Amino acid sequence: MIRVDRGSEPDSLPAIRQTERDRVRLLFAATGFDRDQLGKRYTEVKSELWRRQCFKCCYCEKVCEDVGNDLEHFRPASLYWWLSWTWSNLLFACPNCNRWEKNDEFPLANAAARLAPEDEPPQREEPLLVDPAAEDPMDSIQFVFDASSERWLPRPRGANVRGAETIRVLGLDRQALLENFKRHVDRYVVPDVEHLRRMMAEGNEVEVRAYWANVVRRGLQRTSYFTALTHDALDHFFPADLRHRWSLALPRP
Ligand SMILES: [Zn+2]
Repeated sequence: MIRVDRGSEPDSLPAIRQTERDRVRLLFAATGFDRDQLGKRYTEVKSELWRRQCFKCCYCEKVCEDVGNDLEHFRPASLYWWLSWTWSNLLFACPNCNRWEKNDEFPLANAAARLAPEDEPPQREEPLLVDPAAEDPMDSIQFVFDASSERWLPRPRGANVRGAETIRVLGLDRQALLENFKRHVDRYVVPDVEHLRRMMAEGNEVEVRAYWANVVRRGLQRTSYFTALTHDALDHFFPADLRHRWSLALPRP
């Protein structure tokens, strides 16, 4: 999970927001809340988010070949219907993270402070879910290699409670993702690691630095596959003291 830059809202969204809020406000006043009435006029907004997020799920970083059916509401529409058309509440996520894992969950450290209808966030809410568009998720979550299972596991950084809750709510350690993470590191990171180690053994500093720069350029772009995982795997194979000895920088994506 890396930071997402969604940019400014599409020109079409303010008008949709105004129309839809007025429509459902009246409807809910008459018939009570009904999630199915929230409407699906999101096609353009969803495509825009998909492009700006480099076609990747904002949570698991899996590349999605098409824009799909789901628009992710950071604060779920079932609990915060009035934020259904608010740009700062919208993200692109894969169906596994959005629909099958997170769904309607939005845990707070202070549940009693949950927003009242029509309140603008955050007020006094302290969400336990990491917002990739508002903070650097790598401050809260890191990938750790588990030698016994030979898997790369997302773990809270330090004792970060929000990292732990985010992993739980989104199922970021689900089996299918762990298989993807392993395949990614084995296929795209380990060959570079082995090549770099050979060059280090030969002691060629100039070549090592040039190759490292190339690895970083390829693997740590926002467009790269599983960018946060690549970063943490490189950090695992080449820890800070070793990087320092060879003057190798490991920037966050
Ligand atoms: Zn996902």
